[in-house]
Amino acid sequence: MTWEEITATCEKHVHQGVEGVPSASTLDRIVHCPEAWSWMQKLPSSPSSTAAFNGTRQHYTMELGIREQPEGMPDDLWEMCEEAWRRLQPYLDMGYTPYSQEQYVALNFLTGSMDLLLVKNNSCDDFIILDYKFGRGFVPPTTLQGCGYGILLRHDMPHIKRLRFGIIQPQCSTTDLVELDFDELDALETKIKQVIAAPEGLKITSKGCHFCPANGVCGATKNLLDGLAA
Ligand code: SF4
Repeated sequence: MTWEEITATCEKHVHQGVEGVPSASTLDRIVHCPEAWSWMQKLPSSPSSTAAFNGTRQHYTMELGIREQPEGMPDDLWEMCEEAWRRLQPYLDMGYTPYSQEQYVALNFLTGSMDLLLVKNNSCDDFIILDYKFGRGFVPPTTLQGCGYGILLRHDMPHIKRLRFGIIQPQCSTTDLVELDFDELDALETKIKQVIAAPEGLKITSKGCHFCPANGVCGATKNLLDGLAA
């Protein structure tokens, strides 16, 4: 596949969420600021920046399992994919393999994409969920995004005994896998359902507000901006 073809596919849709269901990547925001969920349904998402769109295309390149630089793909973007492959290799060496019909193709669940799901060889109860992030801003694997994927996966596969989450972020230092605690996943699922049913409570958080479509519009951020302008 050429870079042009990858771009065209990503422009159409690579990861489309489902209306009325929060994506895993927004869980940190809505759990800490439930009112954001109301706003997110009313307001369009912020337009994707060039950097974000590059990340989407790099994701897709990885998900396709492409090991050779696609024709036309800029060197700097490809070098990050190569680094992502290098960081993935230790998991494959541990005896995990991609769990999907087509190797390396991401599994898409209701609330968004899971970049890569690895399963221990000869086992169907020990999984590693990996998320590729191509931005410069460090994201720890303790983000609720991993828990969101864990919740969904356990719905599909209730027999799972072990589930870990990790982030492969070529521009940042390598982090360890995080063990997902099933009791904590159950508690988070209950909380998410409460937020969806009654999105009440407003709280400014640096990361949550940064990409929130209500930034500068909701009561909390508007008051803050008005105060600064006064
Ligand atoms: S901008 Fe921040 S405070 Fe306002 S709704 Fe979004 S997350 Fe909540």
